[in-house]
Amino acid sequence: MTAPTQELGSGRTEGQRPAVRLDAVSKVYGRGASSLLALDKVSLDAAQGEFVCLLGASGCGKSTLLNLVAGLDRPTTGSIDTGDRKIAMMFQEPALFPWLTVAGNVELALRVQGLDRTARRARAAELLDVVHLGGFAKKRPHELSGGMRQRVSLARALAQEADLLLMDEPFGALDAMTRDLLHDELERIWRERNLAVLFVTHNVREAVRLGDRVVLLSSRPGQVIEDYPVRLPRPRRTESADVAELAGVITERLKEEVRRHGR
Ligand code: ADP
Ligand code: MG
Repeated sequence: MTAPTQELGSGRTEGQRPAVRLDAVSKVYGRGASSLLALDKVSLDAAQGEFVCLLGASGCGKSTLLNLVAGLDRPTTGSIDTGDRKIAMMFQEPALFPWLTVAGNVELALRVQGLDRTARRARAAELLDVVHLGGFAKKRPHELSGGMRQRVSLARALAQEADLLLMDEPFGALDAMTRDLLHDELERIWRERNLAVLFVTHNVREAVRLGDRVVLLSSRPGQVIEDYPVRLPRPRRTESADVAELAGVITERLKEEVRRHGR
């Protein structure tokens, strides 16, 4: 394999404004004696078309960071700029409406775009094809496996026609094989749509499998401590030697951080 990865995956363009830029973002929860500093001056950017994985121990502020970028909460200090980009978010739990069919769940996301019923139907069918669930439109969520439900959730995120996709440990609850399949699908969709992706995980190999960059956060309060470029050709295999090698380096750094924090 000879492809120069960075060019392959990242889609970075000189002079283009980043899809998302965080400038010295801090977040304090609560106030007074019981206040908690969750994020401490996090600066970070991602280009349109770039896949950035955010990696850190549990409780380091990863979800906080994504929620801030999504606009679900506000930073205490610092600023976040996503320009006029449309943002979609995907969580660990698919959070589908159980009384709606698979197609119905996707159509609901299309309704806010003002599409009429016929257009919604057609578009939902297309999106379900994209995530390889074409034959399952009439099923209800409880009839699907965890991996399939998460695909519906991905289709719903895609329905929002976002430029920036925020993913909070979306495959954390899935078995390794299902996760591998979804990695392949996500990678394909990301490339086809030139999405900017912020993908949160605490799984080092998953981060190396997917990311153009792996941004390592410290234990609480979350700070950026390393920003690793992943110069490996795509598509990558989670169990390949080169993924394992870089994952090993990052894991060592992460362990060092956890030890430092534990003292
Ligand atoms: P991660 O996603 O990396 O596991 P979180 O962003 O969920 O971390 O949490 C970071 C820290 O902030 C944790 O100590 C958590 O308990 C705390 N925290 C998260 N959300 C809130 C909240 N709404 N109110 C108070 N503390 C919170
Ligand atoms: Mg979290």
